[in-house]
Amino acid sequence: MRKYPSESYFHQRRFAFSTHRVHIAEHASGRSTTGEVSSLNGKVLILNQSYEPISICSAKKALTLIFLTKAELVEQDSERSIRTVRTHYPFPSVIRLCAYLRVPFRKIELSRKNIMRRDGMRCTYCGSGQPPLTMDHIIPRSRGGTDSWENLTTACIKCNNKKGNRTPDEAGMRLLSVPKRPHHVLFLKHSMGHIDDTWRPYLFMD
Ligand SMILES: [Zn+2]
Repeated sequence: MRKYPSESYFHQRRFAFSTHRVHIAEHASGRSTTGEVSSLNGKVLILNQSYEPISICSAKKALTLIFLTKAELVEQDSERSIRTVRTHYPFPSVIRLCAYLRVPFRKIELSRKNIMRRDGMRCTYCGSGQPPLTMDHIIPRSRGGTDSWENLTTACIKCNNKKGNRTPDEAGMRLLSVPKRPHHVLFLKHSMGHIDDTWRPYLFMD
């Protein structure tokens, strides 16, 4: 994890981020494009001072928070950087607030819809997204399995039929991931379809 002290990080620049044009250098493709500030809409994970993920914002908002020394850069997008007239700056992918923010989180309701959303609308046994998808009790209810984030998972019809009233072990089936209570950040509207690799350690997905 690399860190950049906020003050030195943006020591040069009020003008750099308040002007309407910045350069986004695309290292991977070796080309460089000039875009409006609106092209800084890449998603950035915001961590609380305690490193707990609390929200997602645009890169533009993240840069503003860093510049105002309200946040510091924790992880950057190595594929991109921000180029001003004088220098390059790392493109943020994870930032951390400098002060602790009390955030009341809404409890995520345990429902069929949310289980499927957590599982990315895919069968947890074979990875198929072929509808119709069903709910599977990993430990069957008849065997004492509960309705819980840990015991409910998404399964395609084929896998559900194959498993029947057995545990995965008995059926010789493997779960592709261990079902658990989802982090609220995964349920934010802005995060859908986008989980950056650099976010994973902070979202406890590994
Ligand atoms: Zn399946």
